Amino acid sequence: MRVLVVEDDEGIAAGLEVHLRQLGWAVDVMPSVAEAWLALCAEPFDVVLLDLGLRDGDGAEVLQRLRQAPAGRLPDSATPVLIMTARDQVSSRIQTLDLGADDYVTKPFDPDELAARMRALRRRSVGRAQALLVCGPIQIDPATRSVLLHGRPVNLSSREFGILLALVEVRPRVLSRAQIETRLYNWDNVLDSNAVEVHVHHLRKKLGEGAIRTLRGVGYFVAEDAA
Ligand code: CA
Repeated sequence: MRVLVVEDDEGIAAGLEVHLRQLGWAVDVMPSVAEAWLALCAEPFDVVLLDLGLRDGDGAEVLQRLRQAPAGRLPDSATPVLIMTARDQVSSRIQTLDLGADDYVTKPFDPDELAARMRALRRRSVGRAQALLVCGPIQIDPATRSVLLHGRPVNLSSREFGILLALVEVRPRVLSRAQIETRLYNWDNVLDSNAVEVHVHHLRKKLGEGAIRTLRGVGYFVAEDAA
């Protein structure tokens, strides 16, 4: 999952970054309205965590610009937004929910609850109600980041898990290598040009050669049955 954290409090931002990266998510942090907007113009994020009181203005402005962007102007103007507010900001919460925010937490919040809410937002944004993903003999639990093949646990690295989840979530759509990289790596990561190929190779070794298919010249996909 690719996450944008918009937060100007360095302590909160750093804590979130560490916690969310431990979950295997790619996290970028932006401290201002201006920088958050640049990030949203550049990349499709899966979830945005948005603080309201930012250095150069109100986080609600980011939300408003995101939701009101003309079709095609941004990589993803429908990306789920979770607002992080102080306890006394009831009117701000109402206002931002009505502006198109999807959920909110009040500070101080429990990071595990936040992560669970983010998984729920992601499920809804890909049109899925079930927490577990079942694809032929493969069962994926995004909450515990565990994978079963024919009921037996399979040990995947964090990147391998991320690629598998990304492909299964949108199956049978094809994701290009660039789209997969965008989902898995934040801007600070240095990328080997063949990193995705290597991870897919390992996934096939662990899950079966047919688990991930290649559409030559386009990208990778998982068939409905993953057989
Ligand atoms: Ca703030």
